[in-house]
Amino acid sequence: MSDAIRTTCPYCGVGCGVRATPAGDRQLRIEGDPEHPANRGKLCSKGTHLGETVGLGGRLLHPMIGEKRASWDKALDLVVKRFNDTIARHGPESVAFYVSGQLLTEDYYVANKLMKGFIGTSNIDTNSRLCMSSAVAGHIRAFGEDVVSASYDDLDEADLFVLVGSNTAWCHPIVYQRIQATREKRGAKLVVIDPRRTETCEDADLHLAIRPGSDVALMNGLLAHCLRAGLVDEEYLAANVSIPQGFWDMIGQGSDLWSTARSCDVAPEQLLRFYELFAAHPRTVTLFSQGINQALRGTDQVNAVINVHLATNRIGKPGSAPFSITGQPNAMGGREVGGLASTLAAHMDFAPENVARVGRFWSAPRMATKPGLKAVDMFRAVEEGRIKAIWVMATNPAVSMPDANRVRDALAACPFVVVSDVMADTDTGRFAHVRLPAAAWAEKDGTVTNSERRISRQRQALPLPGEVKPDWWIIKEVAARMGWASAFAYGGPADIYREHARLTAYDNKGARMLDLRDHAAIGNPAYDAMEPVRWGERSFADGRFPTPDGKARLVSTVQAALADPLKDWPLTLNTGRYRDQWHTMTRTGLSPKLARHREEPLVEIHPGDAGRFGLEDGDIARVATPQGQSLFRVGISEGQRPGEIFTPIHWTDRQSTGGRTGLLPRPLTDPHSGQPGFKSTPAKVEKV
Ligand code: SF4
Repeated sequence: MSDAIRTTCPYCGVGCGVRATPAGDRQLRIEGDPEHPANRGKLCSKGTHLGETVGLGGRLLHPMIGEKRASWDKALDLVVKRFNDTIARHGPESVAFYVSGQLLTEDYYVANKLMKGFIGTSNIDTNSRLCMSSAVAGHIRAFGEDVVSASYDDLDEADLFVLVGSNTAWCHPIVYQRIQATREKRGAKLVVIDPRRTETCEDADLHLAIRPGSDVALMNGLLAHCLRAGLVDEEYLAANVSIPQGFWDMIGQGSDLWSTARSCDVAPEQLLRFYELFAAHPRTVTLFSQGINQALRGTDQVNAVINVHLATNRIGKPGSAPFSITGQPNAMGGREVGGLASTLAAHMDFAPENVARVGRFWSAPRMATKPGLKAVDMFRAVEEGRIKAIWVMATNPAVSMPDANRVRDALAACPFVVVSDVMADTDTGRFAHVRLPAAAWAEKDGTVTNSERRISRQRQALPLPGEVKPDWWIIKEVAARMGWASAFAYGGPADIYREHARLTAYDNKGARMLDLRDHAAIGNPAYDAMEPVRWGERSFADGRFPTPDGKARLVSTVQAALADPLKDWPLTLNTGRYRDQWHTMTRTGLSPKLARHREEPLVEIHPGDAGRFGLEDGDIARVATPQGQSLFRVGISEGQRPGEIFTPIHWTDRQSTGGRTGLLPRPLTDPHSGQPGFKSTPAKVEKV
């Protein structure tokens, strides 16, 4: 029997270690890796059934120009010609890459380098924009750098877990299991803050079903209570934290118990119970996810959470931290190489000295000097004809972007669309002029970084089928054909990883915490054998932050006015994941066992609203918003707040005629991060 290959799960940001043992033709036996610190041998249902997803059914195995099979040379030459022609006629700002948290760090690095250093624009953004860019913006505002301030070890040492906007039991199951283990071992308490009563709430000590979008009021109210109760650490603040003028006045306004309870629409007794639990347990980890990030004031919500931890000195210590848990397997690696349009590379922004530094390091002929278009703005630019050539890698924006029908129309009208993907028929691929066959999980080789900043290897366990190639190879071949062969002369992912590591350390005199200098000369055998490693020590343990004055910053966050329901759109649509599906189901949809958990997309609705709109459990209902409409099976649920409905994000035209959540949300974004506010769209339902 073959030996097990140690690799990493390709789904969520927990980043569990997987042992994949080849067991016949295109077969893998999957087990959790007991030696991986993230999961210690455990896997959730999605990870467990990875073996069912590695067959070749539906795979894109050859380059395609239109519907015709083409050679790699022909397909790549066409991509280069059309991009070069577009740049020559309309300038570098007329082209874009839209990439993905599914890419490995090495893929991301090469794409970012090509766009920002050689093509000369920052129009490279990623589906991570839809996932955690508010956390990035919040970290930078508070800490000066996008540094996550917790690790999974903190989960073993906390006495109180506050989960905000996170159905952790479904979306980060192994993190949830660690939380539950700590509750059993230490008697730690669990508070869940979520408008919906999800599976995560079932065993919680307290569930606050707050009004959607009232998180800033809640956190400011908590901080006001901490101030009154003497929990604010004045000494720590004086030494380590900058406080903007008027901050405490801002916190004091409307933040008494009754006002906060009214703003959040929860009982004052419940709110007080939360405050008391927080006061009694200094070892608090506050985990936040898409309920915080995917909001029109997502960045303020992130900072309101961090403010509480900074002011009470619950950061940089065992079991005490705010903790952004990321959705995708390599959202963090993408952030580290600068895969967002708003960052340059290696956690640097576009300050002139950073542009000069990175330009020197890359010997770049044409450095981008300013941020590029963020996801929603990028597809708006495609719609308006300002972007005339776009390359989409490993993601499906025709389904996942808000107001997705508009994105489809934009792609349909775009003069040149390239899609690299593992699957032959994707919703986005249908608009492509050229499709490039990319390596799938278990065929790829490289690194990913999980939510706690741990870099792990994804290793190849299966041969590349057909003419499939790794993403980094495809991008470097395009770069070479554009005339930059020597700058992209990578023989394999280890070459790219070393260069990335060198860039993090290049002229970095302690200004940035991301510093992989220990890996800058890593040899190929050591790269192949690399054990999972978390970069940096415990963040902020010494009270120093990567800002010019070394201090963290409290950020003034004012609760935005929350609109009442509109006459024609009396409900608010919230969206999210199911336990056993991932993104647009291109991979999890291949597993019959995973499909059994939820076979259809439901619109979940409170019994009172169901009665109001004449709906019964199991009916088919049309969910409509000003952007579009789609059909869903009705699921009546006491866990929904009155006035709120919930639909899952996964289904596309390829699986069903309904359940198209992506076309419903507004394409409105947070002003700091550009992250869409998926969690609150005015909507209505009617029986069909
Ligand atoms: Fe994979 Fe996330 Fe499940 Fe771990 S928790 S097995 S990383 S999906």
